[in-house]
Amino acid sequence: DQNKFQAIISHCKEYGFVFPSSEIYDGLSAVYDYGQNGAQLKKNIRDYWWKSMTQMHENIVGIDAAIFMHPTTWKASGHVDNFSDPMIDNKDSKKRYRVDHLIEGHAETLSKEAGDALIEQMDNLLKENDFAGLKKLIEDNKIKCSVSGTVNWTDVRQFNLMFSTQLGSVTDEASEIYLRPETAQGIFVNFLNVQKTGRMKIPFGIAQVGKAFRNEIVARQFIFRMREFEQMEMQFFIRPGTQKEWYAYWKEERMKWHLSLGTSPEKYRYHDHVKLAHYADAAVDIEYEFPIGFKEVEGIHSRTDFDLKSHQEYSKKKIQYFDTETNQNYIPYVIETSIGLDRMFLLTICNAYEEEDLSKDGKEDSRVVMRFPAKLAPVQLAIFPLTKKDGLPELAKELMDKCKSSFYCFYEEKDAIGRRYRRQDAIGTPFCVTIDHQTKEDNTVTIRYRDSMEQERVPMDKVKEIVLNKINE
Ligand code: ATP
Repeated sequence: DQNKFQAIISHCKEYGFVFPSSEIYDGLSAVYDYGQNGAQLKKNIRDYWWKSMTQMHENIVGIDAAIFMHPTTWKASGHVDNFSDPMIDNKDSKKRYRVDHLIEGHAETLSKEAGDALIEQMDNLLKENDFAGLKKLIEDNKIKCSVSGTVNWTDVRQFNLMFSTQLGSVTDEASEIYLRPETAQGIFVNFLNVQKTGRMKIPFGIAQVGKAFRNEIVARQFIFRMREFEQMEMQFFIRPGTQKEWYAYWKEERMKWHLSLGTSPEKYRYHDHVKLAHYADAAVDIEYEFPIGFKEVEGIHSRTDFDLKSHQEYSKKKIQYFDTETNQNYIPYVIETSIGLDRMFLLTICNAYEEEDLSKDGKEDSRVVMRFPAKLAPVQLAIFPLTKKDGLPELAKELMDKCKSSFYCFYEEKDAIGRRYRRQDAIGTPFCVTIDHQTKEDNTVTIRYRDSMEQERVPMDKVKEIVLNKINE
């Protein structure tokens, strides 16, 4: 449902969740900034993942490796040779084009229907790596490049998705380094450091959250596919031969994590990979039903000993583990769980978003409500004095001071209460508390629940506990 997706994108901008990057300069393609509510929501998702993976698993520890890595890392991982997308050159102008940019540019000159059809054809060919088909699509549609207007093309060739830059001031080939296209390699190159200093015993895991960069070829659909994004990855090191069991374990465990956030199981499905990446002996995606269809949120990969073995070869350093139970030295096998933080953010937004019809007795009314799980909501408690006088703001501030070290609170004294409630609904605040004149007499407040819109009177000193119970659920 493209309309719902568009409404969500607008909502994200209007309520401070996501802005186009450097918008005053008309934005930058497939790059986005998180606003005041988005940054907090994203942090809450990141924290929830981090806690589930590290604090809740005695045998998983977290690290934070640098974005820049020694360039040989990407030789060993296979990214220099394998991580690429198609491009094409114009023989007359000697200019080089990304195949998708060229076709997308042409699609914009067509009617919406014809343009969409062309893009769909392109996406299918890209998925199949059908280079001859892509060239034919460009020729059949008589796509020209803007400069020379000619149609004399080379064959389609591969284009590496890694961003490169120069280390230091000397611009020779040896100083070329990459922005990491995945966080996993920062874990592999630190395997021995962590295993030895942490005295880790197999099976154990290393988790990491951090930025990754890919010069994506099909970069549309809002924050679903970005050129700069964040990954939450965990590499679980195991004894060779046990990969089937651990793969099954993590496949189930990760789905449990998703469902622990209260999402309906029908919105999720597994998608087993048939065509495997060069490093994997089994792979599955966890897919969620976005308004634009079922799409990948997380991948679970059985990576064998490919990475550690390859780093051992390239670095000429022995990367092995001595198993005291079997008295054997070996290169561990790896099960990876890899989830995009921005994609999980988009999932959380899509899953929470609801346009609710509240019309009653012929009177039209509606609201947009974000039904975030309380533990993820950017604001967890809003505190409103009914009026700006009679000591009500002071009482409200008192409650604020009591709660703000435990969770995120928001204070507001302007506008009618109904309007204030609706604004909190739109950013997904699960609880609003109103302090009124009765509070001064009996110390009770009105607590209003986002989802049911029901209100009840509770003692003011119970509020903190009510919110904490829900957050820790
Ligand atoms: P896709 O097939 O969608 O390109 P992928 O299979 O290349 O993804 P992985 O390399 O397995 O993805 O990365 C793991 C996770 O990182 C993905 O499941 C996704 O959530 C996230 N991810 C990958 N690329 C992007 C991107 N360009 N923007 C946002 N998130 C991404």
